[in-house]
Amino acid sequence: MSLVRAKKSLGQHFLKDQNIARKITDSLLPVTRDVLEIGPGMGVLTRHLLVNPAFSVWAIDIDRESIEYLHAEFPEYQKRILYGDFLKMNITDLFHTPFSIVGNLPYNISSQIFFRIIENRALVQQAVCMIQKEVAERISTPFGNKTYGILSVFLQTFYDIEYLFTVGEKVFDPPPKVKSAVIRLTRNKREDLGCSEKLFFNIVKNGFNQRRKTLRNSIRSLLPPGFDSDYLNMRPEQLNIPDFIQLCQEIEKEGKTS
Ligand code: SAH
Repeated sequence: MSLVRAKKSLGQHFLKDQNIARKITDSLLPVTRDVLEIGPGMGVLTRHLLVNPAFSVWAIDIDRESIEYLHAEFPEYQKRILYGDFLKMNITDLFHTPFSIVGNLPYNISSQIFFRIIENRALVQQAVCMIQKEVAERISTPFGNKTYGILSVFLQTFYDIEYLFTVGEKVFDPPPKVKSAVIRLTRNKREDLGCSEKLFFNIVKNGFNQRRKTLRNSIRSLLPPGFDSDYLNMRPEQLNIPDFIQLCQEIEKEGKTS
C-alpha cells in the first residue's frame, strides 16, 4: 500500500518518531477501556494503541486515503477505523459510557475539537492530545497570566490539564511551522456550576473579548440593573474558575430578585 500524501488542508503532519509516538500512547492512562483516536493518519499512534490489551480502540479520520491505508494495514480492525469528520460525528452513537480521546490533532481545528470535548464532558473522561505548543500553553496556564483566555477557562472548568512535553518540528513529515506539545486533560469533579452555563460562558466570552477593560465595562450587557460586585473592578485574567462561577451566581441571584 502506498503512503498517504500529506494534505495541508486537512492539517496533516505525520509523526515519524516512534519513541515520541510511544511516549504519547503511554501518556494515555487506563482510566477507561474505550478509546477514540482522532485523525489516525498513517496509524503511528494507532499501531501502539491496538496492541494494548487495556484498550478497546476506535479511530476516525476525515481523509479517505488514510482510511484505505489503515484498513489495508490493520484488516482485522476495519470496523473500528471509521471514515468521517470528528466535528460532525454523533459521539453518543458510538459511546454510551465514559471513554478517552487521543490524537495528534489537526492544529487548524484543535479549538473546535476542545469545544466538542467540553460539550461531551459527561462521556469524555480523558484526552491526550498533541497540539500547537502555544495553544497547549494557553490552555494549561493558570489565571493571572497574559495567555489565560476563553478556552483556558472553559476547559479548566471541567478538566484538570497537564502540559506533558514539548515536541520539535523535525519529527514530522512534512514539518509544521510551529512547535508542538502534548497535553493531558482529565475530567475533574465539577458537575453543576450552580448558575446558568449559558450565562457563565457569556461572561467569560464577553470578558476576554475585551480583556483590557474591567468586567464592569465588558460584560455590562449581561448585568441586571443595579448589580454590583467587587469582581466588576477586575479584568478577566484576574479571576480564577471559582471566581467566575461565583460572579455568575451573584448575577443570577440579583437577576431573579430585581
Ligand atoms: N495521527 C497521525 C496524523 C496526524 S495529522 C500522526 O501522528 O502521524 C492530523 C490527522 O487528522 C490527519 O490524518 C487528518 O486527515 C485528520 N483530520 C483532519 N481533520 C479531521 C476531522 N475533522 N476529523 C477527523 N480527522 C481529521
